[in-house]
Amino acid sequence: MKRPILEQIPLWGPEIKSVLLDMDGTLLDKYFDDYFWEHLVPEKYSEKHGVTFGRAKEELMTKYKHHEGTLNWTDIDFWSRELRLDIPALKEQIKHLIEVHPHVEDFLRMLRRHKKKVFLVTNAHFKVLDLKMKKTNMGRYFDMCITSFEMGHPKEDIGFWEKAEKILGFDKESSLFIDDTEEILRTARKFGIRYIAFKAKATSKKSPGASKDFPTIMDFSEFCR
Ligand SMILES: [Mg+2]
Repeated sequence: MKRPILEQIPLWGPEIKSVLLDMDGTLLDKYFDDYFWEHLVPEKYSEKHGVTFGRAKEELMTKYKHHEGTLNWTDIDFWSRELRLDIPALKEQIKHLIEVHPHVEDFLRMLRRHKKKVFLVTNAHFKVLDLKMKKTNMGRYFDMCITSFEMGHPKEDIGFWEKAEKILGFDKESSLFIDDTEEILRTARKFGIRYIAFKAKATSKKSPGASKDFPTIMDFSEFCR
């Protein structure tokens, strides 16, 4: 049986002063992004370039793979140019699909009540961050939100963390970081963040992933007991 998360991470004690949270897949249902990149974009791409949906998907997957883990990947203006589609407008079109994961708001409220510093650290483009904060009204819970685009590095690079530490002023010895991408968690651990947790169940539409390397949470209510 899995050990309760609060036995592994003393979140409500004085040991942890800052909490850094990823957005997509961690706080928000990644279904929105999966649907966007795997369905809507291929559909629009196939219309625009006169190829079948299957062909469009194939071409796009190659392009996605090529830019994964880089700043281009997070830059929707890059994708607008690369695919000759208005990516921000397409995101706007399906913003009704943006959903917050269960118990996230309770968790964020509890962090505020316990006077933790709360930071949003995301690979999302600032235009997407904006759209999602407007839709979910969650911006009020954060002391600051930063994007990899502003840091000049994706979260997969140590450079992101060096810059983020300066800008946010957190102490890595007393910080907790939660993300649904293990590669990013490994970078954060290498950088020296002391408490790290993996958020499983990034999307409501697929079965949850698991991590062998990091304490795992399925649902934020695990922290609220
Ligand atoms: Mg994520």
